[in-house]
Amino acid sequence: MTQIVRFAPSPNGLLHLGHAFSALLNAARARETGGRFLLRIEDIDVSRCRPAYEAAISEDLAWLGLAWETPVRRQSEHFSDYRAALATLDALGVLYPAFESRAEIARLVAAREAAGPWPRDPDGAPLYPGDAKAMPPPERAARIARGEPHVLRLDLSAALARLGPAAETLAFEERGEGPDGETGRVPARPEAWGDVVVARKDVPASYHLAVVVDDAAQGVTEVVRGRDLFAATSIHRVLQALLGLPAPAYRHHRLILDAEGRKLSKSTRATGLSELRAAGLTPADVRRLIEPIAAPAHP
Ligand code: GLU
Repeated sequence: MTQIVRFAPSPNGLLHLGHAFSALLNAARARETGGRFLLRIEDIDVSRCRPAYEAAISEDLAWLGLAWETPVRRQSEHFSDYRAALATLDALGVLYPAFESRAEIARLVAAREAAGPWPRDPDGAPLYPGDAKAMPPPERAARIARGEPHVLRLDLSAALARLGPAAETLAFEERGEGPDGETGRVPARPEAWGDVVVARKDVPASYHLAVVVDDAAQGVTEVVRGRDLFAATSIHRVLQALLGLPAPAYRHHRLILDAEGRKLSKSTRATGLSELRAAGLTPADVRRLIEPIAAPAHP
């Protein structure tokens, strides 16, 4: 079946071999299904994203021999779409504002941890303890009226109640493999994340919200991305269900790791595509570098 796929880098650094692997897999899916390969620039983090990095992304991908459709979707140009999605969620009664700083959240968590173990999300961060949910509505309204910075969080229990029986059967189609070999129909486990942020203090979106809105807006049918985002798919399914958006299929791929077995980072210069290019490697050399690392069935 024809697939519409997207490669969605954030322009907050230079692309490395891991990005090359993901982009090439996406392009291969478009090619082998007679589909479409889209590029999306995930630049909601206005403080860390730079136009120069976006230019470098296009240069590196073109050098690899990839061609994508234009216009490219740039998240910073679609804040109105995210605001509309937030309004829909708000009307469903599944959002609440939270005013704490990171340090305050750390203190709230420490207080819980003093009494016993406190759950952590799949990325290892402690779950938000939900204190802001209990704020009396008049205080909330007064603080918003004063213009106090706040995030918007998804009230997960309200969201699941809103979805009713559909919440019980919420799942996604995994065409690749999760970290524990999950494949096929995978039940969503949004409880693992708790009340995630859907709008940041400075931006009317978070990664989770923007990715779901954009995948639907771009008609993406198969999301091909790293296994590090496998767990986040559970939250994406909840947001899709609440917003009435279609669910794409997912194909999570293995990650390219460094010699110490760590995920590549944008600051590891040795694996940066522009570094490799400057060192005289060809796109064919890059493909050869990736293939053996990508081949084993399990990390
Ligand atoms: N922008 C994300 C990243 O660079 C990818 C998001 C996605 O593919 O869902 O890791």
